[in-house]
Amino acid sequence: MLSRKITDGTEFVVFDMEWNQPMPGKEYPFDVSKLTGEIIEIGALKYIYDNGELIYKDSFSADIMPVKYTKLHYHVKKVTHKKNADLLNGIPFKQAYETFRGFCGDSILVGWGSSDPSMLKMNLEFFGMDPELNMFFLDLQPIFSLFAGLQGTQRSVEAAVDYYSIAKNEIFHSATADAHYTGAVFEEIFKHNKPSEVISAISSSSIDPDVPSDFSFVGPECLDGISAFATAKLFMSVCPLCGSKLSVKIPGFRIRKSQYALLECREHGELFSRTRVKKNKAGNYYAASVLRFATQNDYWLVASKKEEFDKYGEKGKPAPKPEEEEKET
Ligand SMILES: [Zn+2]
Repeated sequence: MLSRKITDGTEFVVFDMEWNQPMPGKEYPFDVSKLTGEIIEIGALKYIYDNGELIYKDSFSADIMPVKYTKLHYHVKKVTHKKNADLLNGIPFKQAYETFRGFCGDSILVGWGSSDPSMLKMNLEFFGMDPELNMFFLDLQPIFSLFAGLQGTQRSVEAAVDYYSIAKNEIFHSATADAHYTGAVFEEIFKHNKPSEVISAISSSSIDPDVPSDFSFVGPECLDGISAFATAKLFMSVCPLCGSKLSVKIPGFRIRKSQYALLECREHGELFSRTRVKKNKAGNYYAASVLRFATQNDYWLVASKKEEFDKYGEKGKPAPKPEEEEKET
């Protein structure tokens, strides 16, 4: 995806949110799927990148009074340690968001996991506000995994805090505390690695949350797997945003039931592609494809599958025999 250039003076806003959920089984006078969570807290820290390090600049925190899900869902209550009465102390969402957006200015948003920007956009849309964030977003979780040598695994922010031995003075799962911890992990990533390498990983992983980044295709029924694969060929050859022909960075290779490739649109950036051939109940084959703007996880995924393919071919690494598996554990 088109990424933003990071130079001295680039600002990052590390943020986290908490949201309340609808009560299961309760009837609401609106479509609950349009508001799967109502934001009740936003916490954020602003950093300036300067000469290889992150310099803390400012913080933001807002409690929001929900108007749709006004009683805390049991799970949310347990995780966030909030009480129903706390919700009444919040400010309206519109006011909180406008102040937060002003705080962000021209920065790059940073979060842990990819769910916060979409939840924010859902709330903006639901409450009749402009859902365009007009900011790039960086999911720090796979960046942490990359530099900690834990690629392909998802770790909690607490695991990352432990990894860098960051002091745990606040209880996790308040937006303010989690933003603080995420910021501390971000600082440590810069401290422990070559800034140029961190910058390069960040630049190739930041996405524009206002533009769809994930596309799928389901092909027609075919009598065999090879024809099913062929139906996805057109979908895999043009950019889903602009329709221009994609160039090939890593040519497609098939391992087990999936075919992987890394493609590139000159304007929109690199795309991860995967096609699986599946069999339906009638015994016919069809292709199910995914094309998405590549993130750090995707680069790792396609590279590790390629390595496996180069070593073992189409069948992939043989599954360990039961007795070998026992020895390993
Ligand atoms: Zn394009």
